Amino acid sequence: MKFALVENIKTTATKGAKGLCSNCGSEVIAKCGDFKVNHWAHKGIRNCDPWWENETEWHREWKGNFSNDWQEVILTDETTGEKHIADIRSSHGLVIEFQHSHIDPLERTKREKFYKKMIWVVDGTRLKRDYPRFLKAKENFRLTNRKGYFIVDFPDECFPSAWLNSSVPILFDYKGIEKINYASDWRYPLYCLFPKSNNTAMVAILSRHSVIQSIITGDFLREKQEPTKQNVTQSTSNNVPIRRPAPTHYYDPRSGRFVKKRRL
Ligand SMILES: [Zn+2]
Repeated sequence: MKFALVENIKTTATKGAKGLCSNCGSEVIAKCGDFKVNHWAHKGIRNCDPWWENETEWHREWKGNFSNDWQEVILTDETTGEKHIADIRSSHGLVIEFQHSHIDPLERTKREKFYKKMIWVVDGTRLKRDYPRFLKAKENFRLTNRKGYFIVDFPDECFPSAWLNSSVPILFDYKGIEKINYASDWRYPLYCLFPKSNNTAMVAILSRHSVIQSIITGDFLREKQEPTKQNVTQSTSNNVPIRRPAPTHYYDPRSGRFVKKRRL
């Protein structure tokens, strides 16, 4: 974990420090080495939250976009008493989970049911083949009438299968922790896969900066809700604009009828 309680204050790990886990209250010790990011670890046992994933630079870079108050927030199911540590929970109630490792779809579903109002951010750099495969599949994205939103006919050719039937939006991040200087690099934006609606998969290409800003302002969920049929309709097939056929009839105001055009 990035934070533990030291004298009841949310504190990051520094060499030799001791603190208390804000989830289970047991003692945790600071681990500050060369290979892993600085973190707090439980003595002897693994993290008290079985959902907890060991953090990488990538997790930390993402979390650092949001205020400390929003990071590592303990959430409890009031009926069952089940508790988990959300990576981010915004003051607007949106949970963001950053996922680097593979996750079993059943496990993924459990977490979606627990957090409800959530999105996933998935590290797309874990497997070398994922990004080239995505780039290839991206060529077949189909335009819609909403800018930046596309229909994906074969999402299984585009994204790892564990994420395909999610009930919440998923942001794929193919940049990882690399510094990219060119906005034209396709790893620059984030790719939001929405929950399937009417068996159709929809992806939005979003600017990283605007995603973070809209999460901070609370607009993210309002603006980026699953696009419904009303606001996104399919455009012409495969991004090739089809020219409308020239009208064959014209309206004649004198007779109030449509009259067949004569060829000149
Ligand atoms: Zn604990």
